[in-house]
Amino acid sequence: MNLILLGPPGAGKGTQSRRLSDNLKVPQISTGDLLRAARGNRTTLGIKAESYMTAGQLVPDNLVTEMIRERLKQADCGHGYILDGFPRTLAQAEALDRMIAAESGKAAQIDRVVNIAVDREEVIQRLSGRRQCRKCTENYHARFHPPKTVGVCDRCGGELFQRDDDREDVIRQRLEVYEKQTQPLIAYYEKMGLLRNVRGTGSIEEIFGAILKAVS
Ligand code: AMP
Repeated sequence: MNLILLGPPGAGKGTQSRRLSDNLKVPQISTGDLLRAARGNRTTLGIKAESYMTAGQLVPDNLVTEMIRERLKQADCGHGYILDGFPRTLAQAEALDRMIAAESGKAAQIDRVVNIAVDREEVIQRLSGRRQCRKCTENYHARFHPPKTVGVCDRCGGELFQRDDDREDVIRQRLEVYEKQTQPLIAYYEKMGLLRNVRGTGSIEEIFGAILKAVS
């Protein structure tokens, strides 16, 4: 099954797609995580992406699309994948359609696009308290979803840190970018008959249940 999770930053795409990945036994592919890893490893891509990421801007389409093209070629994507944070622009969505069509010789085969809806103020609250695990990338929130031990991941024992783009000024910038560049994808996938909307408020388990229903 090939899935896309859409939604503003802080909607819970990472948290939910990791759970979906465990449940459906297909890999979760987060362009944000891949780019942060590239940045950490000081690869050519990581160095090019860094200034965009720190400023809350999108990394240019060609760089991200190439990165995804390489990732989707890997053997673990053979039975499907969950895309988290990609596509984020119409150009990326069209490039993905072309990539899939070239692979299978058929029309684009995205099975479902789940849009997780969360409003602006909730996003700002969530992101400003967010902490992420350096090792397994699980997300926590200092108040709403704290780890059992401060600074330590419940899942793998890794160290938790605050992302440098989770500062209030950068969060506002990322939301603006989302509204201008990513939101149009909702209509794009709706037209293709692939979109399902899920409310992104409530407990992680409740939202996960609604997503499972939407993809089944
Ligand atoms: P995320 O972890 O998904 O919030 O992504 C963090 C940052 O990585 C974004 O603010 C962008 O700078 C960059 N990024 C992630 N995915 C994409 C994408 N599909 N297109 C362009 N930039 C991206």
